[in-house]
Amino acid sequence: MAVHDYDVVVIGTGPAGESAAINAAKHGRRVAVVEKQLQVGGNCTHWGTIPSKALRHQVKQILSFNTNRMFRDIGEPRWFSFPRVMERSRVTIDQQVAMRTNFYARNRIDLFRGVARFCDAHTLTVRGEEGTDELVAERIVIATGSRPYRPADIDFRHPRIYCSDTILSLNHTPRTLIIFGAGVIGCEYASIFSGLGVKVDLINSRDRLLSFLDDEISDALSYHLRKHGVLIRHTEEYERVEGDDAGVTVHLKSGKRLRADAFLWANGRTGNTDELGLEAIGLTANGRGQLAVDEHYRTSLLHIYAAGDVIGWPSLASAAYDQGLNACDELLDREFRYVTDVPTGIYTIPEISSFGRTERELTEARVPYEVAQAFFKDTARAQITGDTVGMLKILFDQDTLEIYGIHCFGDQASEIVHIGQAIMQQEGAANTLEYFVSTTFNYPTMAEAYRVAAQNGLNRLF
Ligand SMILES: Cc1cc2nc3c(=O)[nH]c(=O)nc-3n(C[C@H](O)[C@H](O)[C@H](O)COP(=O)(O)OP(=O)(O)OC[C@H]3O[C@@H](n4cnc5c(N)ncnc54)[C@H](O)[C@@H]3O)c2cc1C
Repeated sequence: MAVHDYDVVVIGTGPAGESAAINAAKHGRRVAVVEKQLQVGGNCTHWGTIPSKALRHQVKQILSFNTNRMFRDIGEPRWFSFPRVMERSRVTIDQQVAMRTNFYARNRIDLFRGVARFCDAHTLTVRGEEGTDELVAERIVIATGSRPYRPADIDFRHPRIYCSDTILSLNHTPRTLIIFGAGVIGCEYASIFSGLGVKVDLINSRDRLLSFLDDEISDALSYHLRKHGVLIRHTEEYERVEGDDAGVTVHLKSGKRLRADAFLWANGRTGNTDELGLEAIGLTANGRGQLAVDEHYRTSLLHIYAAGDVIGWPSLASAAYDQGLNACDELLDREFRYVTDVPTGIYTIPEISSFGRTERELTEARVPYEVAQAFFKDTARAQITGDTVGMLKILFDQDTLEIYGIHCFGDQASEIVHIGQAIMQQEGAANTLEYFVSTTFNYPTMAEAYRVAAQNGLNRLF
C-alpha cells in the first residue's frame, strides 16, 4: 500500500471540498482530495444543483416557446420528453466536470479516487478500483455532503419509485407523478414536471409551502404551482407506498388513496458519514448523519474540520462553497468568517429569493416595519420580456428606513435579491431605503423594481 504525506487532505469534491482544497493549495500547502465518484464536482454537479437547474432552464425554454404567441409563426406548441431535456442538461454537467477537473490539475492538487476512511486521527485509507492508498495529513477537511434520506418502508428498487438522485435516470415521461415532500427540492421538481405537462400531486407534511419564506411569497408559489396544474395536498403523511407494473399507489394516513404513473420521494437528506469509519477516531454523527462543528468549522478533534451539507444547515451549494473556503482559512490561521447570512434561492417557476427577516419574524419580535412593494408587471423590462409575474418586497424600519428583509419572486429573483443584499450588508446609515431613490439604475432593468418599491414604501410613511 502506497503511503502519501500531505499538509491538508480534503474528503469530497463538492463545492465545500473544492473551495477548501483550492484555498489550501493557493497558500502553498501540499493538498490531496479524495472522491469516491468517478468524476469530480460532488452531488452538487451530478445529482443536485446543476442537473435540476439545467432541467428547469430547458423547461422554461419549452414553456416560453409554447406560450409566446410570436413563436406560433414558426410552429405549434411542442412537448419534449424528460429524457430529451435531461440529455441537454448533461451538457452542462460535462462542462462543469471538465472545468472543475482542471481546477485541481492547475492547482497541483493530488486527486485520489475511492472511498476515504479513517484509520486514526491523522491517517486515511482510500480504497479505489486501482488499489488502496494511505494518506497521512496534518489537517483533514470532511466535505462529504449528503444524499436523499430513504425510509426503509419504501421500496426504492421498484422501477416507478424514485428519489431525487434516481429521478435523473427516468427514461420516459410519466403522465402523472406523485411527489412526496414539498420542501425546496419537491417544489422545484413539481415546477419541472408540471412544465413538461405532467400532472403532479405534491404532498406536503406541513400546512403551507416552504414555511420559512415570507407568507405572501409562499402563497404566491402555491398559486402559481396550482396554475400550472400541480395539486398540492397539505398536512398529509404516508402510510404506505405500493408500486406495481402499471403505477404507484400512495396510501395516506388521512385515508386517501392516490395513484400515479411514478412516485418521487423528496423528503429529507442524510449526511454522508457512514463510510468514514468515524468510530476509529471517536467522532459521532447525529441521527441525520451530520457532524457538529464549532464556529471555526472544527469537529471535536480540532485538526479535523467539516463543511457543507455534512454539517447540516443551510445545505446549499452557495453556503457549502463559503463554508469550505472559511474552514480552510481557519486552518491556515487566516482571517475567517462563520457563514450565517445566507440568501435563499429557490428555482421553482416562478423563481423565489429572499434575504433577511420576514414579516412574520418582525411581527413576532414586535419590530415596527413598513412594506415597500413593486410588481414586475409595472416595470418596463418585464413588459418587454413578457415575464410579468413577480413582485419585489422590501421590509424596512418606519423611522430609520433601515432595511430588514428583501423578498422577491418572479423571473431572475435570485439575481435581483443580490442588489438588496448588498445594500443591507452596508454598515450603518448606508443600509436604508434611501439608496434606491437616490441612485441611477440602468433602464430598463429589473433593478428598477427597487426604485419603484422604495418610492412605494416612502409614500406609505406619514
Ligand atoms: C435536487 C437538488 C437541488 C439543489 N439545488 C440547489 C440550488 O439551486 N442552490 C444551492 O445552493 N443548493 C442546491 N442544492 C444543494 C446542494 O447541491 C448541496 O448543498 C451541495 O451539493 C453541498 O455541497 P458539499 O460540498 O457539501 O457536498 P456534495 O456536493 O454532496 O459532495 C460531496 C462529495 O463527497 C463525496 N464523498 C462522500 N463520502 C465520501 C468518502 N467517504 N470518500 C470519498 N468521497 C466521498 C461524494 O461522492 C460527493 O462527490 C440542491 C440539492 C439537490 C439534491
